[in-house]
Amino acid sequence: MSDGFEGTAYTLTSAGEVVGRKRSVPAERTVLRVAAAGVCGTDLIDFRGRVERPGTLPDTSPGHEIAATVVHSDDGWPVGTPVVVDPAFHCGACAPCAAGRTSYCERLLLLGHTYGSGGLARYVAVPGSALLRLPHGIDVVSAALVEPLACAHHAAAKVTCDGPALVLGAGTIGLGVALLLRARGLDVAVVDPSPGRAALAADLGLPVGRPDGALPVVVEASGTVTGFHDALDAVARGGHVLVAAQHSGTLPVEAGLAFGKELRLGWSLGALRADFHAVLRLLAAGVLDPSPLATPVGPEDFGTATFRDMAAGRTAKPVVVWDAQL
Ligand SMILES: [Zn+2]
Ligand SMILES: [Zn+2]
Repeated sequence: MSDGFEGTAYTLTSAGEVVGRKRSVPAERTVLRVAAAGVCGTDLIDFRGRVERPGTLPDTSPGHEIAATVVHSDDGWPVGTPVVVDPAFHCGACAPCAAGRTSYCERLLLLGHTYGSGGLARYVAVPGSALLRLPHGIDVVSAALVEPLACAHHAAAKVTCDGPALVLGAGTIGLGVALLLRARGLDVAVVDPSPGRAALAADLGLPVGRPDGALPVVVEASGTVTGFHDALDAVARGGHVLVAAQHSGTLPVEAGLAFGKELRLGWSLGALRADFHAVLRLLAAGVLDPSPLATPVGPEDFGTATFRDMAAGRTAKPVVVWDAQL
């Protein structure tokens, strides 16, 4: 057993910079050598907060979208096992956990956010219970997308009709939902005001633009008030608007429109372990190829500019890649 594992870890500083620093991870719990790790919208919110109000928020070590190899485990994982991480750690003891609704856990912690140092690092320590074995044949970048795809799967699973569907917002979650609904056989169109994100949807073979007529399913994944408004406008009578993005503030619902359409309006939050398993099965079966969603970045190029590009919409999902394969 080694005493510890030393490697670069990216810190999001109080001043709004992303800096690679040496970090030593003790050989405790389960230690992973990270092959690839994605930057989440949550990390971007943390970045923006520090850029806009420098010096007011502490340094943090983000990252929870991780494809890795086990290099040490006190929890029984064989060294060398390729894994992905379910980074929302639930307590297993509260009433929602007992009912299997782990995403409602009363003590839920997110790796790199409210729990420990995150996975935008060469080595990261996690509880062994957070790991899922990566099946053979899944490339390292797609493996790093499993966590956001699990969140997209949680949303897509709430769509119970046969479509056609419209997805507003071509970020990772929106495109993930679109790909998953298409894999189920639904006709799916995507709308995004950003030419870059719309082009990404087109690259994935998804029709871009709002179809004629009202739609039985509209997924709001833009996180904007405009997107929410457009979703309520585009949905057919008796249709379903599913919100799969985080908004802040207040969202307006025009009562007459909602009543007249007999609107079904709901939200999707996070993912359950079953969503991770479902995504891994789809990836292993070759049903889903999410790799175009990601922009791979080498560790030497990863830093503040990576976050700035993402904040400006030039990239949707930067993924720092250390190892080409697991
Ligand atoms: Zn995430
Ligand atoms: Zn719990």
